[in-house]
Amino acid sequence: MSNSVATFSALNRKETIKQIDDEVFDLLVIGGGVTGCGIALDAASRGLKVALVEQRDFASGTSSKSTKLIHGGLRYLKQLDIGLVRETGTERAIVHRLAPHLVLPEKMLMPLIKGGNYGKLATSFGLMVYDILAGVKGDDRRKMLSKEATLKKEPLLEANGLKGGGYYAEYRTDDARLTIELIKTAARFGAVAANYCKVVDFVYNESGQIVGANCQDQLSEDKFVINAKKIVSAGGPWVDRLRKRDGSLSGKRLHLTKGVHVVFPFEKVPIKNTTYFDGPDGRMIFAIPRGRVTYVGTTDTTYHGRLDRVVATKEDAAYLLKAVKHAFPSIDVSQEDMISNWAGLRPLIHEDGKSPSELSRKDEIFVSDKGLISIAGGKLTGYRKMAQRIVDLVTKQLEKEGSQDFPNCKTKNIPLTEVPFDNFQASLKYIEDTTPKLSPYGLDAYHAWYLTTTYGRQSDIIIQKLSDFRSEAPEVALARAEVWYAILHEMVSSAEDFFVRRTGRLYFDIQTIAEVRDAVMQDLQLALGWDEQRLKDEQDNLNDLLHDATHYYDKELARESEEVAG
Ligand SMILES: Cc1cc2nc3c(=O)[nH]c(=O)nc-3n(C[C@H](O)[C@H](O)[C@H](O)COP(=O)(O)OP(=O)(O)OC[C@H]3O[C@@H](n4cnc5c(N)ncnc54)[C@H](O)[C@@H]3O)c2cc1C
Repeated sequence: MSNSVATFSALNRKETIKQIDDEVFDLLVIGGGVTGCGIALDAASRGLKVALVEQRDFASGTSSKSTKLIHGGLRYLKQLDIGLVRETGTERAIVHRLAPHLVLPEKMLMPLIKGGNYGKLATSFGLMVYDILAGVKGDDRRKMLSKEATLKKEPLLEANGLKGGGYYAEYRTDDARLTIELIKTAARFGAVAANYCKVVDFVYNESGQIVGANCQDQLSEDKFVINAKKIVSAGGPWVDRLRKRDGSLSGKRLHLTKGVHVVFPFEKVPIKNTTYFDGPDGRMIFAIPRGRVTYVGTTDTTYHGRLDRVVATKEDAAYLLKAVKHAFPSIDVSQEDMISNWAGLRPLIHEDGKSPSELSRKDEIFVSDKGLISIAGGKLTGYRKMAQRIVDLVTKQLEKEGSQDFPNCKTKNIPLTEVPFDNFQASLKYIEDTTPKLSPYGLDAYHAWYLTTTYGRQSDIIIQKLSDFRSEAPEVALARAEVWYAILHEMVSSAEDFFVRRTGRLYFDIQTIAEVRDAVMQDLQLALGWDEQRLKDEQDNLNDLLHDATHYYDKELARESEEVAG
């Protein structure tokens, strides 16, 4: 194990927190979502001394609850926001190049229907502009399909009212994996990061300028202070709460909207393509096949409930079920077929009189009089540019205050794993080469695909470890090798971290959790030194997660008093 990777071991957590407590940083980043982790990487790679703290786990907020697309945003084209289309379009290709195992090319099928959102001519023109703005080349350029060709691509589509289709290039990812690879990469550049550390309030100097934050380790309950020259809040849905703590919550505010996705076994919704279709109410919906499942989303409703436990309601389930039946009428599904779900919050900027779907997805930066820099809004897709804008601002401020000069942004050329694939083809070849290595353990091509698209070449370490678990059932052996890796290399501190964000099992392979759960819990208990009470808390939490992922509530869970107080 190289030292750099070992810095991201859960077993080093205490030392990591001590380091955060002891040193003075150029930059403290609050929030370990894709935005915060992207900022930490950008800043550390320019030579800034960076700390990042996350109140729960990395990507536990919105950054594990998205549609998981790295996309250029056709909707922006419709709104004639050409600058945003160009930026997100270009970014797709960059992030794919930086993590070709994780940001996968995905062809999208957009059926064009009578009275739908997108007309044939406008779509043909729009997708062409989209390709040009985003620099899409060769075979990847958009194709306009006849009705027959559209049905050939997707025979399950409603043929009535179908006029044809657009077929174009986007990318699919795993948001939580992207986030963890970002923070691991930032750590290789010297950023010091810890999960389960919550900023409770701020520290100011005699001139009233922000110079630090009081923080609490949520696992040990120990308190500590972080000293930093600059503080950036990338708190996602919690950004306004932190602004309130700073006494600077005025002017623009967040408007949280909830988005739900539901998951079906692939056999139940066996579509051949990722499809972006008109829902019955005119909103656009995605249906995305992925491994053993197809997931469908999303809703978009104004949200006032609990921030730390966002659930899907019966209304959400009915809405998405209706959408599936509307687009694919021959598919016979009911709510009982939904094997999992997730619900997340979009931290958008409020605009008077606009409905959730009309609110801009652009990011905004707020700088308070006391110096707190907050960033909210934006997309997964634009994380790198958001980070660049923030770090440009921070370095400019530091330089003005007498620091050395810092270089320009470098992240365009920093791969997001330690031993990256050269390109997507190389990752496909790796899947092919890995499959026979797994067969002695009873694992197959699905597992080779899963390992590669989850860990890239880091799978080598997991595959080697499999030999320790030869006597186990295949899924158990795999999970035990993964949990060992995740503790030592990816700061997994709870069963939730492992089942939800490092491996995605809760959403994409929920059936295997029952089989591997006992073995994983035992390994976690042993490695992390849990007492019986902690083990019970972990079991209860996992039961709650399984419940939320498989149930539909009558209404949102109400904010708790501390949350209402901000
Ligand atoms: C339903 C849905 C679908 C989406 N689909 C897509 C998509 O397909 N493609 C795309 O590009 N974008 C998509 N997005 C948008 C994208 O997911 C978000 O823009 C992005 O994940 C936001 O990341 P973030 O880091 O800003 O926020 P978060 O991921 O929420 O991170 C903020 C973090 O700050 C932490 N934090 C808060 N307060 C504190 C504190 N006091 N101390 C320490 N830590 C703290 C939180 O715990 C949280 O982890 C979607 C969003 C939603 C909701």
